[in-house]
Amino acid sequence: PARPDVEALQHADVAALLPRPEAESDKYRRGVVGVVAGSARYPGAAVLAVAGALHGGAGAVRYAGPAADAVIARFPETLVSAGPPSKAGRVQAWVVGPGLGDGTDARQALEDVLASDVPVLVDADGLRLMSPDAVRARTAETVLTPHAGEAAALLGVSRERVEGGRLAAVRALAERFGATALLKGSTTLIAAAPGSRGHHTVRVNPTGTPWLATAGSGDVLSGLTGSLLAAGLSGRDAASVGAYLHGLAARESGDAPLTATGVAEELRGVWRGVLTSAG
Ligand code: AMP
Ligand code: MG
Repeated sequence: PARPDVEALQHADVAALLPRPEAESDKYRRGVVGVVAGSARYPGAAVLAVAGALHGGAGAVRYAGPAADAVIARFPETLVSAGPPSKAGRVQAWVVGPGLGDGTDARQALEDVLASDVPVLVDADGLRLMSPDAVRARTAETVLTPHAGEAAALLGVSRERVEGGRLAAVRALAERFGATALLKGSTTLIAAAPGSRGHHTVRVNPTGTPWLATAGSGDVLSGLTGSLLAAGLSGRDAASVGAYLHGLAARESGDAPLTATGVAEELRGVWRGVLTSAG
């Protein structure tokens, strides 16, 4: 784009940022993602966020929430823990919010995660329930991943206002919450937290497809991006690379309907393709 304050994400940048295991890597070095998602009503959101995290290259995924049976049935490699997230054991980044509902336990788990000193990605119900002060008080990275409706609620404006000024909206979110903001939709935009590297430039993801407008695809993006945070990418880089790979995975289905589960499963081939192109 002609504007110096907006940049399209380039394939080569993504390839350079993708974390690869080293010869000496163990699962902890590769990154442990904690997922706090799902509820009795929406167990599937937990499964999809875990799917995104596992296919996103995490060394391990820990799940802390009420949908453990559904998660384990689909992904036996998940570590599940009962009790509050802070007691779950080592985690390098948390993903909180998809399908979480708004019960007391959900609120407490969210508070607990926001009080941690590791990166946190907040999506969906987590965005609705979070205390802005708790987000602003965080010392580690925070990534917020709203769609236009969620962004409107966070900013206290109409959805039309967000849709009509997406660039201003994503910047306002980053500033208001002191966090990296990823605004989902027909064009996905990423603004870094004020003062962090690259915060003057909003990144635009070029890989999206409208076939992604389907239930659960955002939950997969959350888990995937959380995995990249756990691997040590900055909030801005994790969000950018997450959106980029998510779009490529969706495109693997071609011009045809896709499912959120399918997007997660296509990530392996996308990952292979990007690493191969990186040489
Ligand atoms: P969510 O709104 O949380 O379900 O997430 C939906 C996902 O689909 C996000 O990754 C969006 O960026 C993507 N998405 C939704 N609508 C479109 C669209 N019209 N074009 C491209 N991507 C879209
Ligand atoms: Mg969503």
